[in-house]
Amino acid sequence: MAKPIVAVVGRPNVGKSTFFNKIAGKRISIVEDTPGVTRDRIYCDVEWQNYRFTMIDTGGIDMHSDDVLLSQMRHQAEIAIDTADVICFFCDGRQGLTDDDREVATILRRTQKPVVLCINKIDDIKMNDQIYEFYELGLGDPLALSAVNMMGLGDVLEAICNHLEPVQEEEDDEHHIIQLAVVGRPNVGKSSLVNRLLGQERTMVSDIAGTTRDAIDTEYHAPDGTTYNIIDTAGIRRKSVIEDASLERYSVLRSIAAIERCDVALLMIDAQDGVTEQDTKIAGIIHDEGKAAVVVVNKWDMIEKDTNTMETFRKKVLENLKFMDYAPVLFLSAKTGQRVHTVLDMVDQVWAQACKRVPTGVLNDILHDAIADFQPPASNGRRLKIYYVTQQSVCPPTFIFFVNDEKLMHFSYERYLENYFRKTFDFNGTPVRFIIRERKREES
Ligand code: GDP
Ligand code: GDP
Repeated sequence: MAKPIVAVVGRPNVGKSTFFNKIAGKRISIVEDTPGVTRDRIYCDVEWQNYRFTMIDTGGIDMHSDDVLLSQMRHQAEIAIDTADVICFFCDGRQGLTDDDREVATILRRTQKPVVLCINKIDDIKMNDQIYEFYELGLGDPLALSAVNMMGLGDVLEAICNHLEPVQEEEDDEHHIIQLAVVGRPNVGKSSLVNRLLGQERTMVSDIAGTTRDAIDTEYHAPDGTTYNIIDTAGIRRKSVIEDASLERYSVLRSIAAIERCDVALLMIDAQDGVTEQDTKIAGIIHDEGKAAVVVVNKWDMIEKDTNTMETFRKKVLENLKFMDYAPVLFLSAKTGQRVHTVLDMVDQVWAQACKRVPTGVLNDILHDAIADFQPPASNGRRLKIYYVTQQSVCPPTFIFFVNDEKLMHFSYERYLENYFRKTFDFNGTPVRFIIRERKREES
């Protein structure tokens, strides 16, 4: 489930950062263990009772430095409206209601998004009367708080969470059944591998012509407690040489259904043939479906080897499957059993990567590093600005980048960022998705 975003907006000096830091408190010091991290943090992941969300201090988002104050505030409010699920609008209860507050409120009233009106610096209960004038903003009941004294923070969190869905008790990872699809062309050795994995002659393996059957699901309980549902798509056998080509095509179609419902796909390739066009097609489906993948080069027993055979072969495989160069490649023999025991370990590893969540603070640190190492592209004097990134979901890990102008995000820069993320966070064996979202530009 996507983590909701809560944005904190308001004039400078009303206490947004103070509030933010109090809420973020502990978590921030945890992520600061990351070496080389010193910059101010404007994003944090919050867990409160049954709720989880990402909080953004829009006041910390660096706008065009020559912007006048009001325009800055408008920008920030617009970012909040565009991207947040709940907006916390901060005002200063000591100073009272100002024209700037009214301006921002006017923008916020236009959105359907819930707004929590926070009147800060009410350090003393005697000052409570000072919140009433804020009813005038038409944004509902004002809430009194003192960020400095940490009073009223719970009320604010509660008001925010009233607009969010509580986290569903997630399926216990320990008991998740990993759906494992074994896909590949006819005769690459799918059934043989499945039988090896299951440790028994579950299905008959043969070259008998005309044998057809559907994908077979078999649950397998590994000794370490992990359960797999192995989806064996073997079954489309050659009927005659003439039909070979169409059968192969058909087997690609057959793979789609299995790939759609799997968590991890084992793409089997015949070592004797190398990567064929059909293999590339199946790999393309796995990638497009966003599934984690392990490439298995089978019939390794048939290959004459010297010291570099495997490395050379691996390079060739990944060259042919360029779009999937994140996938680990295993070399084995389903027939002799060589290295078959490494398969499920690798499946576990790529599945863990596909499920990985990176905290928003860490993500943005890495984004900043990536940008510092290699500036985003510019076009016609405008440079791409990436305001922040957050992980929207897992399986595959999906990230939303909020930018000033979508068109400035070139494919090559996206690729650069993907590589940077992979270098830092690994994501071995899983595709990652980037969603580029432009926040509306202010016209005035
Ligand atoms: P921002 O610009 O909205 O992020 O505001 P800051 O968090 O930087 O706070 C501006 C000033 O207000 C700082 O001097 C804070 O110490 C002060 N401040 C923040 N919260 C409170 C509060 O609850 N009570 C009082 N009296 N001062 C506060
Ligand atoms: P499927 O159509 O992909 O399920 O392939 P099968 O498992 O039925 O295997 C097709 C043929 O390849 C059978 O004759 C197997 O004995 C043979 N085979 C499978 N794995 C290996 C292997 O690792 N090495 C060798 N030499 N033959 C294999």
